[in-house]
Amino acid sequence: MTTTGSCDDCGAPDARVALGDATLCDRCADRRVAEFTGWPELGAPPPPIHLLGPDGVEHELRYRLWRAPTGICAELEEAGVAPGEGFHYAVLGDHDADVAELLALVRSTAEHEVGRQYLERSDLDGTWQVADTDVAGRFVWNDEGHGDPHRVVVDGRTLSWEQFGRAFAPFEGCQFRVEIGDRFDDRRPDAEILAFPTRREDVGQPALGPDASAAVDVEQLRRALAEFERSLRDAGASASSVRTTIDRAAAFVDYLAGETPAPRASASLPDADVDRARRWAQQRNDRLPERAIGQIRYEVDIAGQAVTMYECRPPWRPEYGPEWTRFPIVRFRYTKTRREWTTYWRDRNSKFHRYDPIPPSLDLQDLIDAVETDRSGIFWG
Ligand SMILES: [Zn+2]
Repeated sequence: MTTTGSCDDCGAPDARVALGDATLCDRCADRRVAEFTGWPELGAPPPPIHLLGPDGVEHELRYRLWRAPTGICAELEEAGVAPGEGFHYAVLGDHDADVAELLALVRSTAEHEVGRQYLERSDLDGTWQVADTDVAGRFVWNDEGHGDPHRVVVDGRTLSWEQFGRAFAPFEGCQFRVEIGDRFDDRRPDAEILAFPTRREDVGQPALGPDASAAVDVEQLRRALAEFERSLRDAGASASSVRTTIDRAAAFVDYLAGETPAPRASASLPDADVDRARRWAQQRNDRLPERAIGQIRYEVDIAGQAVTMYECRPPWRPEYGPEWTRFPIVRFRYTKTRREWTTYWRDRNSKFHRYDPIPPSLDLQDLIDAVETDRSGIFWG
């Protein structure tokens, strides 16, 4: 996943995400992923932080925020060191995780860990020694030779395997236990895996799920889904938890069938509903009072199984560039197995939640009308 070069989309240096045949910066990669999957863009992460290590040295750590197929990754990695070296912390959240929370979590992990020192200099010969009785760190690739042991990074410092071995010199005769963990602190309550575009042309084209035709009988899965729904109800699960569970499972079956995510709306959403959504944005733009023209505009995005209405505003400070800012207002998700639309509202962290006061409907127009006349202020703040 890490390559270096300039971003194919915007030209920014140090583009590190390989998305299909493109090398992209985190933001451009996320834009493509959002377009392809229908999840909202994550936005730019906060500026770097500076943490004082127990060695008295200040370390600059930079955030990364990006969406992997397995979820949202929030990372903090040390600047000014060779790739893979230095301090590096990462958390992995669900696709609808609260981004601000993930960023706060990786920050508090970094603050806690950078302040702690697992190794200390030996008074005798200046080698690194394990200070207490536990050590945490990570393995990094050793490119000095083929098949040589990995190097280890402890306290943000890279050691050879031999140096690491010497660090245990005081423990002759002791027992040890090694626990290996993923690079990411995994915070996902459940794991929804997204299909990503594999080629440049995939964006804006119908996506293919795994080749389901041979191994998976999709119709059989759909029948099993109905049974599953019944059994959840029989077990006394609440209506909303049944719906959430079945929606997730149905989306996965759609995915296996190669039906989602399908960025071209007509591939997965009813054409009439797509037309309705586009007409809705047009009507809102046509209705704008004269003074609002050029100050506001409405856009509808159709991606995957979702239709999202955005309110767009021009840049309010020139240094932010010429791009208009887009605020999602409402999202409608289509559940293909039931041919049904459901309404989602957006909280201030751009996280979408099902909006229960508007019941799901087979007709998207019902939901559009309900959002238009909604007086709760939840959509049109
Ligand atoms: Zn870029």
